[in-house]
Amino acid sequence: MNSIEHIGIAVKDIEISARLFSKLLNTPPYKTEIVESEGVLTSFFMVGNTKVELLQATNPESPIARFIEKKGEGIHHIAFGVTDADAEIARLTEEGFEMIHTQAKPGADNKMIAFAHPKSTNGVLVEVCSDRGE
Ligand code: ZN
Repeated sequence: MNSIEHIGIAVKDIEISARLFSKLLNTPPYKTEIVESEGVLTSFFMVGNTKVELLQATNPESPIARFIEKKGEGIHHIAFGVTDADAEIARLTEEGFEMIHTQAKPGADNKMIAFAHPKSTNGVLVEVCSDRGE
């Protein structure tokens, strides 16, 4: 793992939360993007060398909708930057972690991403992400 790439925060209304986080972080979001495959609308803020990702569900089946139903708004995941997401999936699997994705898939912000199941990581939803490249 090379860095904490971003922290994902589940929100009910991304417009309201983007305004709140713009004030909190004193910077506007640099990008807003829908990730259809995950059923999320995302908004990204730069904070020094890392980022905050706001996530709003785009449909009731979205993992974000289910998360908010169970736990309410709040920190959803921590994303670690890695050189090669697929290599990291292989390493984590070898170490006995349960991966939700056994193959990296395209995520927001030009990344290849995969999640480890929180039941194998002390309740923390862990994302690994690498640059998508060419
Ligand atoms: Zn993320």
